[in-house]
Amino acid sequence: MKSLFTPWRYPYLVSENPSAGGCIFCDALGGGDDATSLVAFRADHNFVILNRYPYTNGHVMIVPNAHVASPAASTPIQRAEMMDLASACETILRQRFRAEGVNMGMNLGRAAGAGIDAHYHLHVLPRWEGDTNFMAATADTRIIPEDLSETRRRFSAALQESLGAPRRNDV
Ligand SMILES: [Zn+2]
Repeated sequence: MKSLFTPWRYPYLVSENPSAGGCIFCDALGGGDDATSLVAFRADHNFVILNRYPYTNGHVMIVPNAHVASPAASTPIQRAEMMDLASACETILRQRFRAEGVNMGMNLGRAAGAGIDAHYHLHVLPRWEGDTNFMAATADTRIIPEDLSETRRRFSAALQESLGAPRRNDV
């Protein structure tokens, strides 16, 4: 049986624990400190945020502004913009992070491996030949905060360059 490789299902990846009683995505969206919350870009219906526990450097998530659990509960315009943002992120990962491949995927529901199942999100992460072996050997390694801030800064600049100035969001 051929198994599908889904790195975003690894337990250390989904230890995105919601804040007490809240939702980390809604908190990040509503907060004013994008550098700390790792928000890289705000569009009209979605925002781009770095994964705090990245599988690879450059692992981002596209998240709808609305707190909804699934694309099925969302709107066509939100879904369309999500894919536009994912495509822009793919281009950035290939051109600026020299990614040789890109994984995109979502986990809808706990049974599917979602760390935050109430607010759906699309993972986009760069891949390189041989990175599986590398990560297997260093699975306990955490990327240090300085790296995350630098990656956020690069992503933010690149997204603004390709998509225009970020907008203040409203659902
Ligand atoms: Zn939420």
